[in-house]
Amino acid sequence: MSAAKPHFDFLIVGAGFSGLTMAERITTQLGKTCLLVEKRNHIGGNAHDRINDHGVLIHPYGPHYFRTNSQRIVDYLSQFTKWHPVDYEIRVSDGGVLWQFPINLNTFEQFLGRTSTTDEMEKWLAENRTPIANPANSEEVILSQVGRALYEKFFEGYTLKQWNRHPRDLDASVCGRIPIRTNRDNRYLQENFQALPADGYESLFRNMIAACGDLLTLELETDFRKSATAIRYDHLIYTGPVDSFFEHCHGPLPYRSLRFEPESFTATQLKERSEISGKQGFWQSAMQINYPNEESFTRIVEIKHATRQDCPQTTIVREYPDAFEPGKEPYYPIPAPDTQAIYAKYRELAATQANTTFLGRLATYRYYNMDQVTGMALTKFDHIAAKY
Ligand code: FAD
Ligand code: UDP
Repeated sequence: MSAAKPHFDFLIVGAGFSGLTMAERITTQLGKTCLLVEKRNHIGGNAHDRINDHGVLIHPYGPHYFRTNSQRIVDYLSQFTKWHPVDYEIRVSDGGVLWQFPINLNTFEQFLGRTSTTDEMEKWLAENRTPIANPANSEEVILSQVGRALYEKFFEGYTLKQWNRHPRDLDASVCGRIPIRTNRDNRYLQENFQALPADGYESLFRNMIAACGDLLTLELETDFRKSATAIRYDHLIYTGPVDSFFEHCHGPLPYRSLRFEPESFTATQLKERSEISGKQGFWQSAMQINYPNEESFTRIVEIKHATRQDCPQTTIVREYPDAFEPGKEPYYPIPAPDTQAIYAKYRELAATQANTTFLGRLATYRYYNMDQVTGMALTKFDHIAAKY
């Protein structure tokens, strides 16, 4: 007779923000056992960070700027990390100029080639914006705020490159998430809490795992299909791609992938760059420089500007948008009416699954930030706690 399969109260698939939040809550608040399986060889999902071979702290899956308007989420995550505030600032490179971005009074002055005022900018915008009462897509949302010239300069090319779709074929929320200002606030983001975990994301995630104690079993480099048949469990929490859970029965959901090309520089190599970067030890003058109309990458990120790591060397990463196909990472769900129509079929199917929770950016096919998936996990946990 074969031995009985081990039993866990919960099987959690995926060790990103959403899976880790669930594991921490279920073990510490409900005292239930969890098996957390992750197909990669590390925790943290796409928010994972690590020191690379050159000794630089990098975000290997693209820059992860933590921000939120939710005190509940700050309070929750602050149990596992201290923070250092960051005013995330970026630039746009176009036509030999480094433009202030997102568009604000400083950008407007660069555009005019002379000094200006908030009043003048507001008047100019009123005369130049396209009157659209309810913007229905990403083209309309920008045209309705700044008009065609600034839309074409900063948004159209970048969006085409990033999504391989015209802005008019993407939900308004995609470009609509970029603030437009008429003051001199240069920050890329608009949320009131903008900070990075003081010791990096990996430390935050390890502290979440530690809090779970013996009630948590973590298996890396494990696909959930293997675990699902090897154990018994009462409830499944799934944070992977929803279409792959259902073996693509309604067809594949479209995703956008990325290719990251890192390049590292020693202190000696950087000496020649300090005139360009403005400070010793850096390759470029800002944490992120976007290339809307030039180059085939969208942005170059030098995360050391934000992590504030004290080291003489640096790493930059060029980010190339890429078609998604099996074997590549589905980095971005694509927010658009046609993709939502496919997702709606999977959502209906997901709702019929007993004792199963679909959670996070991939399982709910939403272009969600880290704070939003953490908030979603905390809310779903409340539903689960009411049941178990
Ligand atoms: P994920 O982090 O994707 O975790 C899901 C995990 O499930 C993955 O580790 C995956 O390997 C695992 N998995 C999938 N299928 C299986 C399976 N079959 N078996 C086992 N494991 C499986 N958010 C911000 O707030 N600020 C930013 O600046 C920001 N920048 C970003 C930049 C880029 C390039 C990208 C791609 C995302 C960015 N995000 C940012 C979004 C952020 O990454 C997500 O909100 C967050 O990581 C989602 O967490 P999650 O747990 O839902 O999913
Ligand atoms: N965007 C743009 N130009 C820019 C920056 C952003 O057109 O210089 C648009 C683009 O469609 C992008 C979206 O705004 O995908 C959201 O940008 P964000 O930087 O928030 O994207 P992420 O960091 O999630 O890739």
